[in-house]
Amino acid sequence: MDYFDIGSATYRETSDFIDSLEEPGFRAGQIYGWVHKRHAAGFDKMSDLPKELRKKLSERALFQGAGYCIKKEDNDGTIKYLLEFKNNIIINEEISVETVFMDYRHGGAVCVSTQAGCPMGCVFCVSGSGGFLRNLTAGEMLAQVYTVSRDRGKTITNVTLMGSGEPLLNLDNVLRFIEVINSEHGLNISQRRITLSTCGVTDKIYELLEKKLQITLAVSLHAPDDAVRKSLMPVAAAYPMDGLLKACKEYGDRTKRRVTFEYAMIEGINDAPKQARDLAEKLKHTLAHINLIPVNPGMGKDIRPSKAQVVEAFRDILAERGLAVTIRRSLGSGINAACGQLKHKIMYHNKEQSQ
Ligand code: SF4
Repeated sequence: MDYFDIGSATYRETSDFIDSLEEPGFRAGQIYGWVHKRHAAGFDKMSDLPKELRKKLSERALFQGAGYCIKKEDNDGTIKYLLEFKNNIIINEEISVETVFMDYRHGGAVCVSTQAGCPMGCVFCVSGSGGFLRNLTAGEMLAQVYTVSRDRGKTITNVTLMGSGEPLLNLDNVLRFIEVINSEHGLNISQRRITLSTCGVTDKIYELLEKKLQITLAVSLHAPDDAVRKSLMPVAAAYPMDGLLKACKEYGDRTKRRVTFEYAMIEGINDAPKQARDLAEKLKHTLAHINLIPVNPGMGKDIRPSKAQVVEAFRDILAERGLAVTIRRSLGSGINAACGQLKHKIMYHNKEQSQ
């Protein structure tokens, strides 16, 4: 039997499904509200639905809730969750993914994983160390936001697609996630408060551009040239920097939204003054904002964060040349909040224990 994935469905699809069950149309709004606004933990919790309908739903539809097995809190307000998805009758495979909550003055932000594992292999990131397992469904991405919101008792105002995985390699599900979370029938999070972060899959940036969204595009750049970039990110071999920056410029020009460039500062690798000057030259005609982020320690033996004064000098060179640049603190480094770190630590720890 085909199950209806209710957690991934748009409002229109939910209405059609309810019609197919020969139920009155208003039930679609009730069910959609339970899933996307009230974040019910299952059909049995939808207390204002008739028992018979709840039974029908449990027989015909998948409700994908997440449970967390690990939760770690840092004293900067960052909380990292390792969430488990079980009993997925559509994709018969248990997985766990990482989700990070950040407490901001104006509300809560959730950093969502889009894939279980990651195929991209960036050297400063451990998400791919356990290999790539599979793409997440939109419902599994939404469940990350809802589980964290329920746990914190806090309204989520911002979402970043910046956890494990490369979102542009799971674009259909990511677009569906954006449509649902942006919907007035759901959390109604403005597109401008959604950031999609890519390691630089250029052709997919053009595909995204065609969707005419107002989301922020963030690009992990991490170097001003192909040689250093290739040494850090295998994707750079397939998508050279000139082509990538051309796509980013077009994204800025056509959406009128600044592209964010993430630049992880790694001691002795990408933090020299000449590299700052080269970067400024490359980005001088692009609507850009550069985030300098000292890389999280513990990512590999040659990967150490740049010293604070080196990061500041790098920032000053960019700012003197008219670029918008911010030094970001490395959130949650005390709880392994960089993508993949918590999961990696637990898997590695468990492996050591079993030996
Ligand atoms: S930085 Fe992002 S794209 Fe690169 S391996 Fe990690 S999760 Fe994948």
